[in-house]
Amino acid sequence: MNTFKRIEPRRPFTITADGLKRITLGVTDSTGAMSMSTHGVSHREQPKPRRTTVAAQRALLVAAHADRGALDDHARQTLAAAALIADAQTEVVLVVFGEFTDNAALLGADKLIELPMFDRRAFAPLDELNALAACVAAYAPVHVFLPDNATGDGDLGRRYAAAVNASVATHVVELDAAHVASYVKANSVFAVRALPEVVLLAPNAVDPTLPFVGAGEQVVWRFDGAPVSSQGVVRDLGIEEIDAAQVALEEADFIVSAGNGVSDVAAFERLASTLGAAIGASRVAVDDGKFARDKQIGATGKTVEASVYIAFGISGAVQHLQGIKDCRHVIAVNLDASAPIAKRANLTVIADTQETIAALNEAAAAARSARGTGAALLNSAALAEGALV
Ligand SMILES: Cc1cc2nc3c(=O)[nH]c(=O)nc-3n(C[C@H](O)[C@H](O)[C@H](O)COP(=O)(O)OP(=O)(O)OC[C@H]3O[C@@H](n4cnc5c(N)ncnc54)[C@H](O)[C@@H]3O)c2cc1C
Repeated sequence: MNTFKRIEPRRPFTITADGLKRITLGVTDSTGAMSMSTHGVSHREQPKPRRTTVAAQRALLVAAHADRGALDDHARQTLAAAALIADAQTEVVLVVFGEFTDNAALLGADKLIELPMFDRRAFAPLDELNALAACVAAYAPVHVFLPDNATGDGDLGRRYAAAVNASVATHVVELDAAHVASYVKANSVFAVRALPEVVLLAPNAVDPTLPFVGAGEQVVWRFDGAPVSSQGVVRDLGIEEIDAAQVALEEADFIVSAGNGVSDVAAFERLASTLGAAIGASRVAVDDGKFARDKQIGATGKTVEASVYIAFGISGAVQHLQGIKDCRHVIAVNLDASAPIAKRANLTVIADTQETIAALNEAAAAARSARGTGAALLNSAALAEGALV
């Protein structure tokens, strides 16, 4: 008989403001909220108290790259982790690589150091390492937290730990004020250790919903002297643009998706190509033969994590919503204001899909001719949002 040990395929616990909680997808917790839902800001939210007003004796430092002026979910979770385990004498210092226009206090930070000279799309690991080391030197944090991602933070955390010979835990799936835990040995062993100096947090280990706010004080930050250049040691070859149609849906940052309410597929595909967005579809649109099966998003299709997901003529059946639960901004275009997608969407446009697609195609063409080249459409997600509002 096969006696291989099975590990729990889902994370054992998630740290929340109410302590560690077992997450069972789809199960309603005691507050009546769906455990799996972390999206959007509640419209019933009350003003929250400050986490601490006591003078800080020590610090926890959180570093992350900004994505278009904000922290992504994973970075927010990392910041929340630090804020949740900080005691009253501890301040949480947030270091953001890149421009940051979000509200640091609401995310739980007591101090914000913004480093707008950095950009996630540029590769400057040594400059970033020096900047992080300078921030650490200024605040002497007890622990440094970074999201363990493949877009800069995971690499920076490892470089930093190696450079200063710090203790480090990677892929941390569970933590409290004294311990961290990770799966090791090809996921066969669940290992617990004391909280190290550098904590690299796996995604979705923390519920970023906080019952408090931080002080959110912006620190005016200047490097002493010019940052050490990576030139010569590291060469940034830049970003290679590829056709959005070639990007796997699971990796696409911008997706336009068609449902049963889209009848002019050619215009829809033209829009996707103009905006540089990947194409997704609902199961009905796929079953109708309008799109290939590999475009289907949902429970029996792909699960996507785009920053912007525009759902044209999609009702938002629970099976479809399952596939877009990790999308950051969902925009719905639908004739029916009461369609379930409207509850999930950050913005719902009550309009006909064909008319909206035509208007967006026109706006894109106008923007392109005004700015000269297709490169003008680099920030096409913003264009789409602007045209829809
Ligand atoms: C076991 C199982 C697994 C499933 N897996 C998936 C899955 O992986 N993915 C998935 O998507 N579905 C899945 N489904 C199907 C799912 O339940 C829905 O039937 C499907 O998602 C509906 O697709 P739709 O929203 O495109 O179509 P509809 O439900 O027909 O909705 C069309 C929407 O478009 C709007 N609309 C119509 N005309 C216009 C117009 N001219 N302009 C603007 N809006 C318009 C309507 O108001 C409506 O909201 C699954 C179902 C089952 C039972």
